[in-house]
Amino acid sequence: MISRQSKLIMSIRPSKFQLRLLEITSHPDTDMVSFKLSRKDVQQENHNLDYKAGQYAAMDLGTKEDPEGPVRSFTIASSPTEVEFILVSTRIRDTPFKKKLANLEIGTPVKITAPVGSFVLPEGDDSRSVVFLSGGIGVTPFRSMVKYATDNHLPVRIVMLDSNRNEENILYRMDFDQCVRENSNLKIIYTITGEGQDKSSSSVSAAGSNWKGEIGFINKEMITKYMTSNELEDSIFYVCGPPGMLKAMQKLLQDDLQIPDERIKIEEFTGY
Ligand SMILES: Cc1cc2nc3c(=O)[nH]c(=O)nc-3n(C[C@H](O)[C@H](O)[C@H](O)COP(=O)(O)OP(=O)(O)OC[C@H]3O[C@@H](n4cnc5c(N)ncnc54)[C@H](O)[C@@H]3O)c2cc1C
Repeated sequence: MISRQSKLIMSIRPSKFQLRLLEITSHPDTDMVSFKLSRKDVQQENHNLDYKAGQYAAMDLGTKEDPEGPVRSFTIASSPTEVEFILVSTRIRDTPFKKKLANLEIGTPVKITAPVGSFVLPEGDDSRSVVFLSGGIGVTPFRSMVKYATDNHLPVRIVMLDSNRNEENILYRMDFDQCVRENSNLKIIYTITGEGQDKSSSSVSAAGSNWKGEIGFINKEMITKYMTSNELEDSIFYVCGPPGMLKAMQKLLQDDLQIPDERIKIEEFTGY
C-alpha cells in the first residue's frame, strides 16, 4: 500500500528534466566521450535531478532520422554526492543520435527523464560485501556506486574487476585510484584482454611492458585470487558490460563458482 506521504512525494517529484550541458571530455585513443550536465532543471531551478548511485535515465535528442529512434538510456556515472553535475559516458559511433550528442554546444538544454533502476548498492545493509564485474563502458554504474560508498564512508566491502581491451580504454581510472586511496574497504583489479587488436598482437603486448594488472578475460582463477572463500560465499555479484561478457560472467558465476541466482545482479546495456 502506498502511504499518503509517498503519494505526495511521487506527485511532487518531476518525471522529466532539461539539464544544461556543462562539459564534454574525449578520452584519448578511444571512442569514449564523457558529458557533464547540470543537476538543476533549466526552467525550474528548484527541480534537482535526484537519483540513487547506479541508476539510469533516458535521454531524448529528437533525432527522428535515427533508425533506433531519438532516445537512449544512459547510466548516471556520477555519484549523488557530486552535487553540481551528473556524468554520462558513452562510445561515440556513427549513429545520428551519437553524432548529435558529440556535437552539442556547451550550454544546450538536454531532455532527460527521472532516473530509475534497481542496479544499486544493497539497501538497508551497508555491511554486505559486493563484487563488481565490469566490461568496457559497463563500468558506468560502478563508478557511481564506488564514488558514493567512498564519499559517504560506507562500511560496504567492494572488490571490482574491471576488464578492458587495452589500458587506454580503462575509463575513470584516476577517479578509481583516488577512491582506492581514500577507501580501505575498496579493492580494484584491472585486466586487459587485447580484444580488437590486430591478430599479430597478443594481449600481453597490447597491455605494454609496464602493465602491472591482470591479462585476459575475467575467469575463476582471477576471482579466487582476489577473494577469500568467505567473501565468495557471502557477496552479492554485480555484472555490467556488453552482451557477450554478460553471458560469459553469468556462466562463470553460476556454473564455475556455484553462486545462487539471488546473489547475482545483472545490468544489460541493450543496444550494444
Ligand atoms: C539500463 C541501460 C543503461 C545504459 N547505460 C549506458 C551507458 O552508461 N553508456 C553507454 O554508452 N550506453 C549505455 N546503454 C546503452 C545505450 O542506451 C545505447 O543503446 C548504446 O550506447 C548504443 O547506442 P547506439 O544505438 O547509438 O549505437 P552505437 O553502438 O553507438 O553505434 C552502433 C553503430 O556503430 C557501429 N559499430 C558497432 N560496433 C562498433 C565497434 N566495435 N567499433 C566501431 N563501430 C562500431 C555500427 O555501424 C553500428 O551501426 C545503456 C542501456 C541500458 C538499457
